[in-house]
Amino acid sequence: MTGRDRALVVGAGYGGLLAAQVLATRFRQVVLVDRDDITDSDQPRRGVPQGHHPHYLLEHGAHTLENLLPGLRQAVTGDGVATRDFGSDARFLLPSGWTPRVPTGIQIQSMTRPYLEQQIRRRVLDHPNLTLRCATPVDRVVVRAGRVRGVRTGDEVIEADLVVAATGRGNVVGTWLESAGYGPVPERTVAAEVTYTTRTYPTAPPDLDACLAVLLYAPLQQRGGGVLAVEKGRSVLALFGYGAHRPPLDDDGFLRFARSLPDPCLADFLATAPPHVHAHRFIDRGNRWRLVHQVRSWPDGLAVLGDALCTFNPIYAQGLTVAAMEAQALGESLDRHEDCRTFHKRCARIIRVPWLMSTSSDMAWSLPRAPWAARAAHWYSTRLVDRVPTDPELYRVFAGVQHMRRSPAALAAPSVVAKALRPRPAAGTVRPTRSVKTSGS
Ligand SMILES: Cc1cc2nc3c(=O)[nH]c(=O)nc-3n(C[C@H](O)[C@H](O)[C@H](O)COP(=O)(O)OP(=O)(O)OC[C@H]3O[C@@H](n4cnc5c(N)ncnc54)[C@H](O)[C@@H]3O)c2cc1C
Repeated sequence: MTGRDRALVVGAGYGGLLAAQVLATRFRQVVLVDRDDITDSDQPRRGVPQGHHPHYLLEHGAHTLENLLPGLRQAVTGDGVATRDFGSDARFLLPSGWTPRVPTGIQIQSMTRPYLEQQIRRRVLDHPNLTLRCATPVDRVVVRAGRVRGVRTGDEVIEADLVVAATGRGNVVGTWLESAGYGPVPERTVAAEVTYTTRTYPTAPPDLDACLAVLLYAPLQQRGGGVLAVEKGRSVLALFGYGAHRPPLDDDGFLRFARSLPDPCLADFLATAPPHVHAHRFIDRGNRWRLVHQVRSWPDGLAVLGDALCTFNPIYAQGLTVAAMEAQALGESLDRHEDCRTFHKRCARIIRVPWLMSTSSDMAWSLPRAPWAARAAHWYSTRLVDRVPTDPELYRVFAGVQHMRRSPAALAAPSVVAKALRPRPAAGTVRPTRSVKTSGS
């Protein structure tokens, strides 16, 4: 990545804004373009349809975000985004029982996706050398002599020394490259179709601290849901189901689906929540990694990050964290004068662990056809999940790995392996259940 005059970021969503933040101190001028007409709103917008649905930021993502935008964590508390402990204040129903209510030291804050984007956008747009151009759909990249020189939008070419594609989950970059004469980008996919139906309420359940959720667990627990306390005293309630288990949009169907879960906590809230709140649906197909780091013939000056590079099954809440880590890596790559290929290799190293975690779980949806390594991993994690409700120390290890605070290798420590190999507890083994209480631990 050589010239440092103008950088152009395509996509002013979460990942694009973070990339722009990194570029603003390294380029004379940064142009951020988006096809949407973006205003200073904290409401979902057309180009980011997942914005209606609950978003959960892992602790490692929150740290990375704070490094990129110091002060953000504190600033959002003004809108009622409290800092909570993941163990004491968020509770999850596993097939084996509720997670223990113990402090983990993992600090979480929950807010809606559009609100988070608004807060980031306000700070990023403060850079005097940064311009946001809305309603500007980019049709293609302009490549000359093996280098990207800018982008084309309608009849206009916007020139740039570096183009960062943060265009989200569609295959925008693949289409650009093919129209510039490059071959297809290889990809890796692991399917797991999950449907989300979500409603946002003006209030939150009175006894909700941060989050209460009935988790999906492949292959047995195919229905789940959760409610998240978010900014300004509101809450977001999502029901989700694997494959054919699609939570309905209408009031009655929504409530019926909530009642079908192994615990009544969400149905209880719905029984008192305001009716006729608009429901939004999103069908997610699973995990897709575009292996741009493996492409030999790649135009320099084109960097890809965020969902444009890799989408994970949202159930594992990894996308925001990985995009923040990639934006940070972009700054490191620029400081070391690396080319885009080297930057993409950095991203591949970031993606590898979360990819392994989400795909090895998702392979269990079709367990008999899963590779033996995925079946062994499922056997092992099921033994551990069986013990989590009654073993706070084990839960802390799990939570640390989930929040990318610890390496997954922590789950293979001798003390943890010993727990997995002990005979299974008599009750509460991994199977759907309807008899778990919501309070206490
Ligand atoms: C239902 C659901 C729930 C999720 N929950 C979580 C969660 O709990 N935790 C978590 O970490 N992650 C979650 N995610 C993932 C998270 O939403 C994404 O990882 C994250 O939004 C990626 O940001 P991005 O900037 O790469 O893409 P996006 O936010 O999708 O932004 C892409 C931007 O590019 C623009 N654009 C696209 N094409 C063009 C073009 N040709 N020209 C100009 N502009 C263009 C779009 O308008 C948009 O603004 C969830 C995803 C889904 C679907």
